Amino acid sequence: MSDLSGKHGLIVGIANERSIAWAIAQAADRAGARLALTYVNERLEGNVRKLAETLTQPPLILPCDVSQDDQIAAVAAGLDREFGGLDLLVHGAAFAPREAITQPFLQTARGDFQIALDVSVYSLVALAQATAPLMARREGGSLLTLTYLGSERVFPNYNVMGVAKAALEASVRYLASELGPEQIRVNAISAGPIRTLAAAGISGFSDILSVYRERAPLRRNIEAGEVADAAMFLLSDAGRAVTGEVLLADGGYHAMGL
Ligand code: NAD
Repeated sequence: MSDLSGKHGLIVGIANERSIAWAIAQAADRAGARLALTYVNERLEGNVRKLAETLTQPPLILPCDVSQDDQIAAVAAGLDREFGGLDLLVHGAAFAPREAITQPFLQTARGDFQIALDVSVYSLVALAQATAPLMARREGGSLLTLTYLGSERVFPNYNVMGVAKAALEASVRYLASELGPEQIRVNAISAGPIRTLAAAGISGFSDILSVYRERAPLRRNIEAGEVADAAMFLLSDAGRAVTGEVLLADGGYHAMGL
């Protein structure tokens, strides 16, 4: 079991109890980290506050729409005030407008493309900018984001999110290169499909789940808790030599040709 005692972490991307970011928050809490959780809007604030009550250490809870620079700055100020630094960041925010994942990719509107890449990719850069100085104070840290194999291969209806995940994975490598000298590591977990709020927006998602069950070497789907276990490796000292990496936690599906 990973030990994160004495560490402070920021978790962005909890919508409800099914969120992968929530599974990671629970695992980090069990490992001893003190957390800050964010919520995107008032509609989801109640969910996050209720979930927060189940953690062993009361977390700091802050609003953060990642498309708003002032909200990101306020989160960094809150972390500075309450924690005096930061060790861990989990980035689990992603969004694409409905039309962009229901119409053919060829029809993607400029505005929808910009929104998807802003919320799902630039947000990692913006959060890294805001939190790297807090991590440098701790003489290092670990940033983790969540991606999907749709970055490399075509999955029906994933469309602009696939393009966004390709950009996200490239951003992981560029950030890892620049933040490495400060001992700040940047990695991604590419998770297999899991039923969450974000997944509900992808039509044909059940078919994707059943193809994975049939063809992945482990012959089953994966659970958010399993992504969280992989996250503990990358967030903790166990992963201290790993940066710029995309770790596939998908039951091995990516290894198959057919
Ligand atoms: P989720 O819906 O629980 O999480 C997505 C989160 O993004 C939500 O908490 C939502 O509030 C947040 N978000 C959207 N717009 C935002 C904004 N403007 N500002 C701040 N937050 C915003 O679904 P999830 O499946 O847990 O997704 C988490 C991450 O995992 C995403 O990056 C997703 O692409 C990735 N992922 C999911 C799967 C899957 O099958 N569920 C597979 C691989 C990767």
